[in-house]
Amino acid sequence: MSTPELDQLDHLPAGLETVSARQLRTVFPNPTLIRLEGRHKQPLALSVMLHGDEIVGLAVLKRLQVWMKSHALPRSLIIFVGNVFAAEAGVRKLSDRPDYNRIWRGGPQPEHAMAAEVLDAFDAAGIFAHIDLHNNTGANPHYCCIHNERPDTLQLASFLGPLAMYTHNPPSMFSNSRADQVPAITAECGQPGEIDGEDAAFNLVMATLHLDHFRGAPDLELQVFEVKGRIEIASDASFAFAHGVKADLELPPKLEHWNFFERPAGTTFARRLTGRQVMTVYDDDRNDVTERFFKVEGDRVILTRDATPAMLTMSEAAIRADCLGYLMERRGV
Ligand SMILES: [Zn+2]
Repeated sequence: MSTPELDQLDHLPAGLETVSARQLRTVFPNPTLIRLEGRHKQPLALSVMLHGDEIVGLAVLKRLQVWMKSHALPRSLIIFVGNVFAAEAGVRKLSDRPDYNRIWRGGPQPEHAMAAEVLDAFDAAGIFAHIDLHNNTGANPHYCCIHNERPDTLQLASFLGPLAMYTHNPPSMFSNSRADQVPAITAECGQPGEIDGEDAAFNLVMATLHLDHFRGAPDLELQVFEVKGRIEIASDASFAFAHGVKADLELPPKLEHWNFFERPAGTTFARRLTGRQVMTVYDDDRNDVTERFFKVEGDRVILTRDATPAMLTMSEAAIRADCLGYLMERRGV
C-alpha cells in the first residue's frame, strides 16, 4: 500500500452536518488536515476518528460547524481527521493496516510516513495544546489520558472532568508522543453515540479554544490514577458474566460499573469454576503481577489491595482482542 494521501482543507466541508461515520469518505476521501483561522493565531490541535468506530470526534466537528455560523473562532484550529477507511468500514482499524493511534513514533508502514507529515505540520504551526478525541468500549465515566503532571496538562484535562489516567503506554499513541512538547491529552468520552459524551467533548474543545493562556492550575481538583496492571484472560478460557453458567471464569454481571470506582481489598473479583488460573495481570513490562493484586480462596479470586479498575469491558470481542481491563492506583496518596 502506498502512503495514504493527506488532504488539506482550510474549511469544514459542506455536507459534513449530515454524514454518518460510515459515509465519512464522501466529505473526507482521505485522512485530512483542516486549518481554520481564529483570533489567536497559535492553533489548538484536534485529532478525531483515529479509531473508525469512535464517532465522538465527528460529532464535535458537526457541532463546531454549526457554532461557527454565528461565532468567530477565538483561536485557530488545526484538525486531523484520521482513519476514514476504518470509519467507512465501521471498525476501529482495518485488519491489515496499523492502528492510527499507534503510528506516532515512526515505523516502516505507509501510515507512519503520513503521521510524520501530520507531525511536521503541527510543529510548523506551533501548537498551543493538543486534544485527541476517543470513545470507550465499556461503560466508563469521561476521563483523560495524561502523560505528565505539568500544571498546563492538568488544567487542560480538567476541562473534560475530574478524572485522569496517568500512563506512558503505549508510547506510540498520539497524545503520548506529543506530551513532551505541548499540553496533550486523549479525551475518552464514553461510548460511541452517547450525547453526554459528545457534550463533554464539545465543551472541552470550547473551553480550550477560549483559553487565553494556561494559568498553571487545574480548574477543578483532578483525581489522577496510574495504571498498574492490565488484566488478560487466557485465549482458550471460557468466561461468563452471570451466575450458574458453565465456564472457567465467572465475572460479576455489572463488572463495567466498577470502572473508576475504588474496589477495596477483600473484594471478590471473579470465581474460578474449574480451578484453572486463566486471569493474569501484567505490568507495563509484561511481568506477571497477578499475585500483587489477587489471591485465591476456594474458588474466589479476591483483591489483596485497594485498586480502581478502568476500561473493564463485557464485550467478548474486546476482551479476546485486547484485554478485560486495567487496575489503577491513585497518584499522590
Ligand atoms: Zn480510541
